[in-house]
Amino acid sequence: MLQLQNVSKQFGDKEVLSDISLSIQTGEIVSLLGKSGSGKTTLLKIILGLVKMDNGKILFNEDNVSKVPMEKRGFNIVFQDYALFPHLNAYDNIRYGLKNKKGSITEQEIQEYIDFLELQPHLTKRIHELSGGQKQRVALARTLVTKPKILLLDEPLSALDGVIKESIKERIKTIAKEFKLTTILVTHDPEEAMTMSDKILIINDGKVSQFGTPEDIMQRPQNEFVRSFILKQLEMKRQSILSLYGGAHV
Ligand code: ADP
Repeated sequence: MLQLQNVSKQFGDKEVLSDISLSIQTGEIVSLLGKSGSGKTTLLKIILGLVKMDNGKILFNEDNVSKVPMEKRGFNIVFQDYALFPHLNAYDNIRYGLKNKKGSITEQEIQEYIDFLELQPHLTKRIHELSGGQKQRVALARTLVTKPKILLLDEPLSALDGVIKESIKERIKTIAKEFKLTTILVTHDPEEAMTMSDKILIINDGKVSQFGTPEDIMQRPQNEFVRSFILKQLEMKRQSILSLYGGAHV
């Protein structure tokens, strides 16, 4: 279980996160959902250990990891732009994360991740020869082979669309459930959060607006922000889809 207790962060005199508390059970997928600039990525980086919080505590399986450096915390992230190395092929990118971790994973286990992500035909390709969805899968594989205790994803679907987006969504869900891997993802898209997560943390201007299951949020929105930002966007999307098929009365 991961617990955040009263996490706060300022950049200069701007309070970017104030008093964030939540508990995430092992194997859960949790979305951090909010508008651009609301503090989602900063919170993800604080959990990773890349950014220091000013106040608060992070407990992982009841150990206080607040001061544990990133490398020792054992969590790992897929960045929004994937951060793949253009001079290496797909396979060498995947293995790159293991540079200083000899013996932590067998070649057979690496192959299992490669097969699961259907990357076998692409291993010798350079990064510029891969499609957006293939790059995303290479980035996921590179992070998964490090066997993270928590998987962090920064806007994992933002560069993808259509069928590819749906297939990556399903894969992320399968990874979390099959490997019982706690997964925290950042998104600004309510539909993405609703369809991917066990729980959603809605952040508004650095504060928790609501934390709950998609059902909670749909049926029991706790405040006007949730109603206007989240539910209205979902309703607008629904209406625009209906209008494509002959009007809202369909
Ligand atoms: P989100 O991911 O929700 O778009 P961020 O966490 O990236 O939001 O940013 C929240 C706020 O913190 C923004 O106003 C952003 O400009 C500011 N910010 C983020 N990183 C830094 C930094 N390293 N230095 C100063 N301000 C930052």
